[in-house]
Amino acid sequence: MARTKLVVGNWKMHGETAGNQTLLNALKSGMAGAGMAGAGMAGVEAAVAVCVPFPYLAQARSVLVGTSIAWGAQDVSGHAQGAYTGEVSAAMLKDFDCRYVIVGHSERRGYHGETDETVAAKAAAALTVGLIPIICVGETLAEREGNITGQVITRQLDAVIAHIGAAGLAKSVVAYEPVWAIGTGRTASPEQAQEVHALIRARVAAVDANVAAGLRILYGGSMKPNNAKELMARPDIDGGLIGGAALVATDFVAICAAAV
Ligand code: PEP
Repeated sequence: MARTKLVVGNWKMHGETAGNQTLLNALKSGMAGAGMAGAGMAGVEAAVAVCVPFPYLAQARSVLVGTSIAWGAQDVSGHAQGAYTGEVSAAMLKDFDCRYVIVGHSERRGYHGETDETVAAKAAAALTVGLIPIICVGETLAEREGNITGQVITRQLDAVIAHIGAAGLAKSVVAYEPVWAIGTGRTASPEQAQEVHALIRARVAAVDANVAAGLRILYGGSMKPNNAKELMARPDIDGGLIGGAALVATDFVAICAAAV
């Protein structure tokens, strides 16, 4: 099954109104120049998205509406609504016309104590309102060096499968983000990344082969213009989740161009 490549920018906790405006406008014109302007047409999944901090969702929408670039958030509550001070619900994200939401980023797991079950509940909450969760999995350096990468990825993935099933995964995106490669400038080699991506696909295939064949699995971890093409050429790498390079319009556009 042919899978459309997808490139998603994760702005993390960066930005302010004036700078965002410049960046979003540069992405808009850069993407048109890179020949990706048609990707958001009716019936065609957008190939590019930016996940911005909550306060800037309205700004992203106002600049990007009608373009090929979708927008989304970096986290969502696992609860539908109620007395959860500081939380943002999936319905609220939908209210701002988000298409995607990142769940289970290693910075959320690591700094905010999110468990595999919390991440699964967040993915489920996103799906309930028609958002596409980008479900992050990945091992730490100690786990890789301890030769338990496969075990860790399988545990993280199985918790999600147990909660949303193959039907939920069919409407989701998975991102493999080795923690040791995030923001470190240290990228997984295409071979290392492909190996884990293949493992993820095989695990899903054990539940539903069709869902596995259609599942987009992004790589994240210091993806840059100079390594994007080689990574995305691997058979099970269907795009990228981009942190640092998503804040530099020329870099992000170059990575997107490497995906087509
Ligand atoms: C990320 O935070 O999702 C990420 C991949 O960051 P970076 O590209 O900066 O490593």
